[in-house]
Amino acid sequence: MTRIKRAVLIALTGGILMSTGCSGADSSSVADSKADTETTTTTTAPESSEPEVTTTTSFTFTEAQLKEPSEYGKVIALTFDDGPNTTTTNAVLDVLEKYDARASFFLIGNNISEDCHDVMKRTVSMGCEINSHSLTHSYMNAMSADEIKAEMDATAKLIKDVIGVEPKFFRPPYIAVNNTMHDNIDLPFINGYGCNDWSSAVTVEQRVEKTLKQAKDGAIILLHDAAGNYQTVQALEQIIPALQAEGYELVTLTELFHAKGVDPTKAEYTVYSNALQTTNW
Ligand SMILES: [Zn+2]
Repeated sequence: MTRIKRAVLIALTGGILMSTGCSGADSSSVADSKADTETTTTTTAPESSEPEVTTTTSFTFTEAQLKEPSEYGKVIALTFDDGPNTTTTNAVLDVLEKYDARASFFLIGNNISEDCHDVMKRTVSMGCEINSHSLTHSYMNAMSADEIKAEMDATAKLIKDVIGVEPKFFRPPYIAVNNTMHDNIDLPFINGYGCNDWSSAVTVEQRVEKTLKQAKDGAIILLHDAAGNYQTVQALEQIIPALQAEGYELVTLTELFHAKGVDPTKAEYTVYSNALQTTNW
């Protein structure tokens, strides 16, 4: 019941095949699913006298079948910053998959190399969400309006080119925010409750303990899937089942706000750590 179902349509020249996808989100203080369309075109070289065949494969993910807000119980959004990569990101996805949990990932545009495309597609196919953590992971509160827009536009394009949709949420690098950023970035700003898991000095047990202590209905948890951060992967093996045992459903940011009946795009100068917060921070 809790699993988001997505239909994957694979349209091939001369016929349509259908298969299904499945379900499936940095820093110290710290989204959802929509129609995703991805199109890749490959040209098959003609063989002998056969006519040239052009195969177009379109993956169309239907809009996530969100439940009615009243059907959700307690919800938490796990979020991961500083990917993508082919190692830790995949390890995080493995744990999410094992527990049928979804999460939101905030990608650094400059990390989106071609060898990360598969992990990004896997992320989306699991019902997880891909969002923006800027292009260069710099202090954007020191940037001009044009520089800010360039960071956002470039990252949105890099993401869309791979998964077919643009990011819907933004996590400011270092959670450094000012009004110039708010005035020039259209996406809701997301902070969250972190456990300093970017520091290798923080043990697995400390990560688990602090995360569980900060768990609350509507909360956004801020973690990192930066390459090599396996302590967080290990922590997730305890965090996820513990939260589920407490009755939390682990959802994307889109689902989190939907479940709470909150439209984050309407908020101004707000940085969310909980969908239900009544203050700007
Ligand atoms: Zn970061």
